[in-house]
Amino acid sequence: MDYGRVLEQIHATVLPTLGQGKVADYIPELANVSPTHFGMAIATLDGQVHTIGDARMGFSIQSISKLFALVMALKVEGDDLWKRVGREPSGTPFNSLVQLEHEAGKPRNPFINAGALVVTDILCTRFAVPENALSDFLEKLSGTPAIHYNHRVERSERRHSDRNSAMAHFMKSFGNLRNPVDQVLDAYCRHCAIEMNCVQLAKAVSFLANHGRIPGSDEEVLDVSRSKRLSALMLTCGTYDAAGDFAFRVGLPAKSGVGGGIVALIPGECGICVWSPPLAESGNSFSGSLALELLTTLTGRSIF
Ligand code: GLU
Repeated sequence: MDYGRVLEQIHATVLPTLGQGKVADYIPELANVSPTHFGMAIATLDGQVHTIGDARMGFSIQSISKLFALVMALKVEGDDLWKRVGREPSGTPFNSLVQLEHEAGKPRNPFINAGALVVTDILCTRFAVPENALSDFLEKLSGTPAIHYNHRVERSERRHSDRNSAMAHFMKSFGNLRNPVDQVLDAYCRHCAIEMNCVQLAKAVSFLANHGRIPGSDEEVLDVSRSKRLSALMLTCGTYDAAGDFAFRVGLPAKSGVGGGIVALIPGECGICVWSPPLAESGNSFSGSLALELLTTLTGRSIF
């Protein structure tokens, strides 16, 4: 597959759409990014990397961190994790409190904020400094040194974390958070504020396209079964409350974030990351979703 050419075609088609949608501003620091950035990277399992646009410009990974935090928690906690977090699409916004009351403080899935807070709580129990453990893990997966979080984004998010704080306290009242709420929120906000670029993220997610093994080194991150299950969760829960429409249009496991990034994978083939800051109503990057739709249309490759 000539992915270089495919990326050029995608770029030409999405260019007129750049700026459509709205850059997230509920975390004030996120609003300071140009709405016309667009980058995309494809990391194939044989080690090639194809890029277009701003693929090497760092951005706030936000909820994409939830995917990698979950991988770490699964490694240390195993399937016991599912006693505390469900595996169903939420059907409510990513920061909703409603469902928690009906299900006794057990979040519907690990990719909404409530679920990620429980995952972060597990990491707080298991690691002395969870945010450093996560950035070390991302350095290993992406094969790049020095992945850091942006302190300004982290402080901005922490100052505006009343809703996440409410959720965390609510879950703690059901016994589903074991560490002090402030400790969990600090770690969660740092995870969201990690900065990476499309190339690093495409490489970082590529182990899931390789049945759980890091391409090249063949080191096992997750076994085949867990890798398959995580990809299934990405398909059903990875793109907010629009996962059904995303599967319909794109047909790939993916995880998005409000910074405008989306990671995706074609099993057996490649890891992918696209970034364009303005979001559609769904919370997913407007032009990023379009780019992934074009990728599967132009190549004829998806999981279906
Ligand atoms: N840091 C964001 C929050 O907790 C993450 C949201 C997202 O990217 O979905 O509100």
